[in-house]
Amino acid sequence: MKRRDFFNRSILASLGLGALGTGVGYGNTRPGSFKSAAKNIIFLVSDGMSTGTLNMADLLLREKEGRKSRWVSYYQGGFAKRALMDTASSNSLVTDSAAAGSSWGCGMRVPNGSLNVGPNGELPVPILQKFKNAGKSVGCVTTVPITHATPASFCVNEESRSAMFDIAVKYLEMEFDVMMGGGKALFDSKSREDKRDLLGDFRNAGFSVALDRAEMMALNGENPVLGVFSEGGMPYSVDRENDPEIKNKVPSLAEMSKKAIALLAQNPSGFAMQIEGGKVDWAAHANDAPGLLYDQLDFDAAVGIALDFAAKDGETLVIMTTDHGNANPGLFNGSKFGKLYTTSHSNEWVLSQLSAANTPGQVTDFIETYQGLKLKKEEAEVLLKSYEELNDDGIYGSTKVPNHLFAQIQTNHTGIGWAGTGHSSDHVELAMYGPGSENLPAYIENYKLHNFMLNAAQLPAMAYLG
Ligand SMILES: [Zn+2]
Repeated sequence: MKRRDFFNRSILASLGLGALGTGVGYGNTRPGSFKSAAKNIIFLVSDGMSTGTLNMADLLLREKEGRKSRWVSYYQGGFAKRALMDTASSNSLVTDSAAAGSSWGCGMRVPNGSLNVGPNGELPVPILQKFKNAGKSVGCVTTVPITHATPASFCVNEESRSAMFDIAVKYLEMEFDVMMGGGKALFDSKSREDKRDLLGDFRNAGFSVALDRAEMMALNGENPVLGVFSEGGMPYSVDRENDPEIKNKVPSLAEMSKKAIALLAQNPSGFAMQIEGGKVDWAAHANDAPGLLYDQLDFDAAVGIALDFAAKDGETLVIMTTDHGNANPGLFNGSKFGKLYTTSHSNEWVLSQLSAANTPGQVTDFIETYQGLKLKKEEAEVLLKSYEELNDDGIYGSTKVPNHLFAQIQTNHTGIGWAGTGHSSDHVELAMYGPGSENLPAYIENYKLHNFMLNAAQLPAMAYLG
């Protein structure tokens, strides 16, 4: 870069007006002239996103489609506000999603498993309730049940994250504006423990209830919205994109995010929302590389939608981060990575189609067809052997398929290795764009994001409890 260009750019950047050159690969995200207060906040969390997940998803997109992810493009633009964030809970260096989300949600560390209930029974007001009380519209979008730990951590106080039936009732009392994701079973009289018709109660309370993609697309903001598009977690992005029937019925995270932003932005006083790539975490636990990377890319598309909205709007603070690392995957053989470009299904989907009745040849053919990986005969035999052991229990649930064994075999074919199957204590990536982002330090404790958001919106902050 010429010296003169450098200085022009520095001055512009200091005014929040930095130009981005040609903008090729950067989308529309050029810093606009930010207002002093963040009228809107979009908090994007890719749940359980180890740094390797962010990196490999970017590599996959770059190698496959010749473009970078929006998140990494934002860094490449040269003006990103970026930090490392710690992830501890009040009782462990390794957090769960409830405690991690609660640290942002209520401004203090809470024990693992707790939703905004402190170690001494404290009940601080969750952040979306604060924004709601300030006259803003609020909501959450996720690919896992909408009552799951991460969205719930912005909404309710609940001693245990597993009380999802109760959390669904608390949502009705909270009067949010938009909630969309999976988890219909938590609201449906057929599957609820207490047989309560919560979907009916939401309708009676004036909510629009959307149960498929077409119903979601038709929403116009007349009423607050509950959208639940699958019984539990939503399908992995790679399975959705390659199955026209699912694609027609179930929206992607990016589609839900776009709709939710459009609905929430109708409030002249602004909005605050959380967008969660929830199944990134599930895929990391299962060491499911195609599930993981394509869900991260769906999340990245939602990042792009948020950044584009914020660039145009000038009053929106976008925060992108994760709550903790998970399984710490990495690419250890670059020449094999290309196999994932043509993969059309997750490991979970592939493994749930197989059974002990298959022959090694059938297993090899099946996996080659749907994932482009040619297993050796011995590998297929080892995999089949594990089905014989599973067979005692009859039907395979998604958690019962031999995920981790298959991931080990798959490493020989994709070059992707895994450090574990659970959460890690790693400090994580945190990036921001918009009004208030200039105050982000290079390192921040997770619970300090609570006041950070309130300060950005010029709302009263709380005293830190530690
Ligand atoms: Zn997890």
